[in-house]
Amino acid sequence: MKYNAILFTDISDYFLPMRVHGAYNIAAHLREHGYTVKIIDHQAWLWENHGKELVNLVESMIGAETIFIGFSSTFSRYFGEPFYMKPRNIKPGLKKKDCFPYMLELISRVYLMHPHVKLLLGGQGLQTVTFYEQFKDELDCWIRGLGEDSILTFVRNVEQGIENPPIISDAASPIFDFHNQRNVFDIEDNILQHEVLPLAISRGCSFRCKFCTYPLIGRNSSEEYIRSEESIYSELMYNYENFSTSSYMITDDTFNETTYKVERVLRAVERTGVDMNFWAYTRIELLHKFPEQIELLGQMGMKASFFGLESLYEPSAKAIGKGLGRDKTLDTLQHVKDSWGDTSSLHGSFIIGLPYETRETADEWTKMLIEGETALDTISCNFLGMTSDYIIKSGHTTKTFFSEFDLNKEKYGYKETPDGKWENKHWTWEEADLYAKDVLKSFAERRPYFTWIKSAQSSMACMNLKVTNPELTWEDIHKPINNDDEANEFESMINNSRDIILDMYKEKVL
Ligand code: SF4
Repeated sequence: MKYNAILFTDISDYFLPMRVHGAYNIAAHLREHGYTVKIIDHQAWLWENHGKELVNLVESMIGAETIFIGFSSTFSRYFGEPFYMKPRNIKPGLKKKDCFPYMLELISRVYLMHPHVKLLLGGQGLQTVTFYEQFKDELDCWIRGLGEDSILTFVRNVEQGIENPPIISDAASPIFDFHNQRNVFDIEDNILQHEVLPLAISRGCSFRCKFCTYPLIGRNSSEEYIRSEESIYSELMYNYENFSTSSYMITDDTFNETTYKVERVLRAVERTGVDMNFWAYTRIELLHKFPEQIELLGQMGMKASFFGLESLYEPSAKAIGKGLGRDKTLDTLQHVKDSWGDTSSLHGSFIIGLPYETRETADEWTKMLIEGETALDTISCNFLGMTSDYIIKSGHTTKTFFSEFDLNKEKYGYKETPDGKWENKHWTWEEADLYAKDVLKSFAERRPYFTWIKSAQSSMACMNLKVTNPELTWEDIHKPINNDDEANEFESMINNSRDIILDMYKEKVL
């Protein structure tokens, strides 16, 4: 079959294959407007292991009606060695010659032999700028931000012979009817039975943390940003009936922004009659202020939460707009753990180098994390990231949006160093980086069979073990690991499942 659009996507080099929203969302929107779209997921693995077949497949799908081939880049690797989503693993100076050879062949063939087919880049990831710069001659457009409105503008311009600008940016996609969005994943997307899927209930965030670079922050909680109960129910039901999906990664910036939103999702879940598992970004202040949310979340099947706590030193947390205070934060976390049970997965994310934080204040609370004096199961700890003034001015970045800290460093006590990093009265960038790494190392060393695989988003990704072992439950997968045998068994289950899932997908798509 020939397609109007062909989209490549993946989360490259992840420990278990997972789906991401972006390309599927665009595909769903185009399909709703009458276009045919083929998605090719797990692209890095396919290019590296089945490149020739992939080139032939894509060639067979190109016809006179083909409008574009798109490359989604937010979580994808197109150049060089596996980077496992870590910026520092990416070798500097990657060039066109470092991209997958068969992909290079495909792009050259399309550019030379199918000039009516446009080449499109989407997203903002670790290799997006490299892709944009290395394929500047071949690419027709880079779409940034929320892409539903932009993609329709793009294809309609092509159809009418109107030239598109080289970059289209849109933080909000205001024409798209998000409130009544239809199901994102489709039968023809080759979703495997029991796969975990991402789910967006809302867009944007009603908070405005000073280090945050997300678009659409500080928005109100109006209905245009939140899906209707019917829309949520339809998607859950469609995915369950067609893919047996009952585990979801909720992608909302702050899932529990209002209690009525949580209640709406609970009603939709209850209507399906299916036991579901959810993971979400959850704001601790709101659980403290509206404690009834804790029970409601448990009832809907929330098993794992990511709490952006940033610092347990009150003046630092307050300085960024997160000031619940240490005691209330820890009490609320314990309340959540007691309510959701032992196998729930509570993840705290922290930042070293915030205003007012000194080594002494950080020592005090990081010791509590390391020694297990909180209800958190896993943590992440990073230095404060800031974009240099030079990069902001030059525009040599994939970022479209900058944080309050990025834009007003000096106001918050930071000075830019000649190499584009930062320092303040208490830390240099490097010191904060080393400190954060030490915290993580000590945290893992204190826990004999600790695995980062059960940490943060990965705790939900582990549910993809159900693709190869459908009988497994959340409790089976998240029970504690107590000895070497159990640790080895878990690791080999992950490795086997990864290979089987990729092969199953290949059989369906190629
Ligand atoms: S850090 Fe999270 S809560 Fe704060 S503004 Fe950004 S998305 Fe919202």
